[in-house]
Amino acid sequence: MVIITGKTKLLGIIGDPVEHSLSPVMQNEAIANLGLDCVYIPLPVKQEDLAKALAGFSAIGLVGFNVTIPHKQAIIPMLTEVTPNAAAIGAVNTVWSTPEGWQGTNTDIDGFMAPLKQMEQDWSNITPVILGNGGAARAVVVGCAELGCPEIGVVGRSEQKLDLFTQSWRQTSLSTTLKVYKWQELAGLVSSTDLLINTTPVGMYPYVNESPLDLEVMDKLKPGAIVYDLIYTPRPTLFLQRAQQRGAIVIDGTEMLVQQGAAALEIWLQQPAPVEVMRKSLLANLR
Ligand code: NAP
Repeated sequence: MVIITGKTKLLGIIGDPVEHSLSPVMQNEAIANLGLDCVYIPLPVKQEDLAKALAGFSAIGLVGFNVTIPHKQAIIPMLTEVTPNAAAIGAVNTVWSTPEGWQGTNTDIDGFMAPLKQMEQDWSNITPVILGNGGAARAVVVGCAELGCPEIGVVGRSEQKLDLFTQSWRQTSLSTTLKVYKWQELAGLVSSTDLLINTTPVGMYPYVNESPLDLEVMDKLKPGAIVYDLIYTPRPTLFLQRAQQRGAIVIDGTEMLVQQGAAALEIWLQQPAPVEVMRKSLLANLR
């Protein structure tokens, strides 16, 4: 049981809705494991109330908080400082208090990279192919660039959105060559890549019988390729099952979820997070 004292420090997550977030249970188990007088609470904040909520957090001395839909972009101009990676992505998911004001970053990048960093792999020879060009794809692009991939292919179904995606990186210092492709070009890309990443929601619960790639394209997969699906329900997705049947090394989205939370906790507490405790908590609470 968490014991609240007069000195308990406050952390939390803002969003609308936040009821379904797994972060409170995962973060509170981590805090309890560390034996700290601190609590992580859900903070439902409506879109129009964001500025008022921030002022209130400053007034009560909140240590920091996670940010989810619909505030990830809207909060950026309200912060004193944003890390270059979060600015490049255009979304913040972790905020912390400083004497100068609120600072923000995006720990989805750390979360995405964590399982890849554990592999013995020379990323400078790898050209990842990313399916989708939404919010998560942006964190994946920055993550792949940080790993050292010299070129990244992003595949989308809307030419217009792909153009906007390309333009959106022009003012950033992205250290990789970004190429965009239409969905129809997938077969050629899949046959040559060693790292294929799904950032679309296709195959996510309850649509568990769907896959972003049809069987004909899946058959082009290189044996031994790494196939990463950001989805964490179900585990594994149909996409990952099919990839595994074709000899791929597969990674699902749970580790990314755990590690983005661990990275946030480390920023707030300035000490290592109990990652194994967080992983166990998340797996026990996933549907
Ligand atoms: P998003 O911003 O809505 O982007 C979704 C992307 O998928 C868009 O580019 C969209 O294309 C594309 N897409 C959707 N349906 C498609 C279809 N049937 N065929 C081809 N492309 C399709 O969503 P997001 O925030 O990036 O999240 C995407 C997924 O990543 C979700 O499943 C989410 O749960 C997961 N995720 C996991 C983690 C983690 O920690 N594991 C973190 C973040 C996100 P259009 O733009 O053309 O619609």
